[in-house]
Amino acid sequence: LNHLNQAARMTQHTSAPTSRAPDLHRAITDRLRSLGLRATPQRVLVLAALGDAHGHLRADEIMRWVAERYPTVNLATIYRTLDTLLAAGLVTQTDLGAGAASFELTGETRHHHLVCERCGAVTEMDDALVASLRERLLCDAGFRVSTTHLALFGICRACQEREHGLLGAAQE
Ligand SMILES: [Zn+2]
Ligand SMILES: [Zn+2]
Repeated sequence: LNHLNQAARMTQHTSAPTSRAPDLHRAITDRLRSLGLRATPQRVLVLAALGDAHGHLRADEIMRWVAERYPTVNLATIYRTLDTLLAAGLVTQTDLGAGAASFELTGETRHHHLVCERCGAVTEMDDALVASLRERLLCDAGFRVSTTHLALFGICRACQEREHGLLGAAQE
């Protein structure tokens, strides 16, 4: 799916953003067809929304983006479309604690996220750490992990330092 991301990036880097849109749409259409899926406007636009975002979007955010271009769309259609794209492996889903699932284009490399519960910062975590956990679970418990896009919640370094700073100041 890398060419999709590339097409999306090209779209963003050009001075006239809409002029590159046909390239992205063609890349998406080709990708859908190569997987034996019909390139319906809903599917193309949901993938284009995620390509345009370069990150995660909730279903309601996807809906807003798509509705600007295809006004008859509704949230049920967005969810149904996402289900199809998830099943095809084109889209991946995770819970970043926003009260709803977040969706993202499946990238070349698997990644996970660290989500700060104080400031909401979301950082990427390499799959290597989770890969060793996956191997251990398979070896020790015979458990085959199918989670591909994980979010771990906690407190980021900046927030910890800020809290320590406040604590230090209070003790003086
Ligand atoms: Zn992600
Ligand atoms: Zn933080």
